[in-house]
Amino acid sequence: MALEVSEAMKEASQFCVDIAEFQARASEIIAEITGAEAGYVTSGAAAGLLLGTAACVTGLDPGKMNRLPDTSGMKNEVVISRSHRNFYDHAIRSTGIQLIEVGIADRFSGAGVRDTEAWEIADAITDRTAAVCYVAYPHTLPILEKVVEAAHAHDVPVIVDAAGQLPPADNLRKFIAQGADLVAFSGGKAIGGPQSSGILCGRRDLIMSVALQHLDMDILQEQWTPPPMLIDKAALPGAPQHGIGRPCKVGKEEIAGLLTALRLFVDETPDTRYSCWLKVVEMIVQATGEMPSAQLIIAADRKRYEIPSVELHLNEETTDWTALDLVIALQNGAPAIQANPSRVNEGIVVFGPTCLKDDEPAIIGQRLRELLLQKSPE
Ligand SMILES: *Cc1c(COP(=O)(O)O)cnc(C)c1O
Repeated sequence: MALEVSEAMKEASQFCVDIAEFQARASEIIAEITGAEAGYVTSGAAAGLLLGTAACVTGLDPGKMNRLPDTSGMKNEVVISRSHRNFYDHAIRSTGIQLIEVGIADRFSGAGVRDTEAWEIADAITDRTAAVCYVAYPHTLPILEKVVEAAHAHDVPVIVDAAGQLPPADNLRKFIAQGADLVAFSGGKAIGGPQSSGILCGRRDLIMSVALQHLDMDILQEQWTPPPMLIDKAALPGAPQHGIGRPCKVGKEEIAGLLTALRLFVDETPDTRYSCWLKVVEMIVQATGEMPSAQLIIAADRKRYEIPSVELHLNEETTDWTALDLVIALQNGAPAIQANPSRVNEGIVVFGPTCLKDDEPAIIGQRLRELLLQKSPE
């Protein structure tokens, strides 16, 4: 985190605040930055998915809120493309809904070119459908506008998991502009906020439901004066008690930290952000130097990569190292170096620039050199 972010957290820790009021102010700021009607600080993108799903299931009905995760008699299905399934959807399922998977992604198996299509999502929508869930990444199919069109034709909201879709910073507004009803971002990834923070932004009524199912609700109805722009008390027959979102509690420190990080993130130009990262990957390559056993390539084609990286390609003819052995040796050294193992099967180890301190690219390069000059793992 930037020092300014940890300073904001430290300062927040010294005051007692009404969390609903703080969230109401956060809502205004997030709304302004994202173009959404309202926003909320969550304890992460996964928490945002849980809270957003709960809001779509219960709406503003406090009886339903109290009964979750028992969803009997409620709209309790969430439609999702089979190719979007991932284990973060535990957060969605934990509200008590059933995921309805549609489509088969022939493009991934190589058996064809198609993925789930919007008509298949429309086809799965019934009067039990609470929401459609959509996982955004640059090549997600079907395109979001088509999914929104299919869902909205049946008055069903669309929840977008955009946890890791920053940068580009434009994505803070893009999915909302494309018609998403709720969008969840991680605060602890590129935004640079506290690890246990995130953003949920979207429709005002859904964010009100989120707040009601998340905030501490141990208060007498008569004394309860929630901030009207977050919670419209008059729209409720009574207040729910502590809700299903309560385990996703957010402290005032996280709210202050997230809002500070978000401001820094949108104030930094994309070019500045990119060139800082580029400098880091160049330093890793420089510190490693030339070696017969591996070739280091900087992946910095900005059209393809939002974040530049170093790809270390092992030369199998001149070394006994495998990419996986190298990842493990880096991780077990002191200091521990965590590389990206997603391409070890191709003999490639990937190094990302985010989160590194000034002296750390050189440490990584030196360690790589040391290891690769040994012919094989010890
Ligand atoms: C990182 C990630 C999450 C979880 O985000 P947290 O902020 O850590 O809760 C959810 N979905 C996707 C696609 C992610 O990449």
